[in-house]
Amino acid sequence: MNAAATSDPDSFGGGAAAGGRVLAPGVDVSHKTILYLEDISVSFDGFKALNKLSLDIDDGELRCIIGPNGAGKTTMMDVITGKTRPDSGTVYFGQTIDLTKLTEAEIAHAGIGRKFQKPTVFEQHSVFENLELAMKCDKRVRASLSARLDTAQRDRIADTLALIHLAGEADRFAGLLSHGQKQWLEIGMLLMQEPRVLLLDEPVAGMTDEETERTGELCKTLAGRHSVVVVEHDMDFVAGIAHKVTVLHEGSVLAEGSMGEVQNDARVIEVYLGR
Ligand code: ADP
Ligand code: MG
Repeated sequence: MNAAATSDPDSFGGGAAAGGRVLAPGVDVSHKTILYLEDISVSFDGFKALNKLSLDIDDGELRCIIGPNGAGKTTMMDVITGKTRPDSGTVYFGQTIDLTKLTEAEIAHAGIGRKFQKPTVFEQHSVFENLELAMKCDKRVRASLSARLDTAQRDRIADTLALIHLAGEADRFAGLLSHGQKQWLEIGMLLMQEPRVLLLDEPVAGMTDEETERTGELCKTLAGRHSVVVVEHDMDFVAGIAHKVTVLHEGSVLAEGSMGEVQNDARVIEVYLGR
C-alpha cells in the first residue's frame, strides 16, 4: 500500500533498503539482531530500576514491552537512548556499536529515534512545517532552514503525511490537532530522520479507539523497514500488533513469547495481567 511496507522476508536482518536509501548504513545486522542489551543494571539511590536486564530485538521486528508500573520500561528506553547511563552492562546497536559509549545526540544520529509519552510538536507551525523542520534538523541533510525544498524532499514529506494520516491537515497549525494526531505527527517527525530503530513509550495512551486502531496499523507498516519497540499497557492493542511480547518485572525479563504465551504464563498473570 505504501513504500514503507515490506513483504520481503529477506529484508529482515538484511540491508533494510528503503526507497533507494539504506537507513543507518553503518549498523551491522549480519546476526539479525539490531539491539542487544546485556546484563544492564541501573540503580536510583540503591533501588534497582533495572536488574541485569538482558534483551535482544531482531532487525525489522515489532516488539511490545509490557509490565506493571515501575517495572523499568521507561528506564530501559532511557538507557538505550543514552539519557541514563547504566551502572553495568552493555547495549549493542547491531554487532559493533556500543551505545553506552555514545552521547544522546550520537545515539539519535546513529539511527535510534524515540517518542516520549507527551508529544512535543511545534504548535505554532503547520503540520507540513513540523515535518520540514524535523528533516532539516537531520545533520545528514545539512540544509539551512530557509533553503527551499527540492522535489525529493517534498515527496518524502508527502509520503510521511500519508503514512501518519495527516495528508488532509498539512496546512493546519499543529497546535490545533487532536491529541492522537499530535502523536502521529511526532512519529512522522521521527521518521523524517530515517531511524533504524523506533522506540515508542505508551503511544496510544489517551487516544480514542479509532486512533488506537490506526496507530496499530501504522506500527505494523513501520515494522520491517524499521525495528519498532513499543511500551504499552493497552493489551488489545499489543495483541493486535506484536511479533513478540516481553514482560518486564522489577527490572528484568519475567517472560517473553507470543501474546498467547505470555498471557497464559502464571507468573505474568500473578504480577500483571491478573490484577
Ligand atoms: P515503568 O516505565 O516500567 O513504569 P520506570 O522505568 O519509569 O518504570 O521506573 C522504574 C523505577 O525506577 C520506578 O520505581 C521509578 O520510581 C524509578 N525511577 C525511574 N527514574 C528515576 C529517577 N530519575 N530517579 C529515581 N527513581 C527513578
Ligand atoms: Mg514508563
